[in-house]
Amino acid sequence: MSHREPSLELVPSGGRRRLLRAETPALLVERVAAALGHEASPGRLTAEGGLLACLACGHPELYTQRDFPRPVGITIVVLAAVLAPFTSYVSLFVAALLDAALYHLAPAVVVCYACHARHRGLQPSPRHPAFDREIEERLLYGKRAVMGKPMRPGGTADAPEPEH
Ligand SMILES: [Zn+2]
Repeated sequence: MSHREPSLELVPSGGRRRLLRAETPALLVERVAAALGHEASPGRLTAEGGLLACLACGHPELYTQRDFPRPVGITIVVLAAVLAPFTSYVSLFVAALLDAALYHLAPAVVVCYACHARHRGLQPSPRHPAFDREIEERLLYGKRAVMGKPMRPGGTADAPEPEH
């Protein structure tokens, strides 16, 4: 995934998505700061260009998911279902394999729990685990959260994968 150009996709609620790119992670930090009108915060990256906190809002909790476009997956499934009667349902099997293969080949995208900004092309270490409902719940509902769990020191960097 490090061969991809570092980029940040801003996902403002109700606003338009915006993609910022740069040649290196350090340049991306500067570009984001200029775009958002705040001071550059180099502390959000490790020396190697790994992500310690969201480049957009500075929140230290992020999750990693596969960057697999959902419309592609849905198209494959629909196509397989349409073809199923003509292929003795072999198309469904092929679609499942194709889906799994594409999913595993898809590069990672690291998403901020707080502002949903999507980071691509940064170093894979520190690693942020997969999505954790308990973290999202705490951020949404605070003390009223049913399943919320407290933030780890340092956020999600190199945190263990959620058990559920
Ligand atoms: Zn953020």
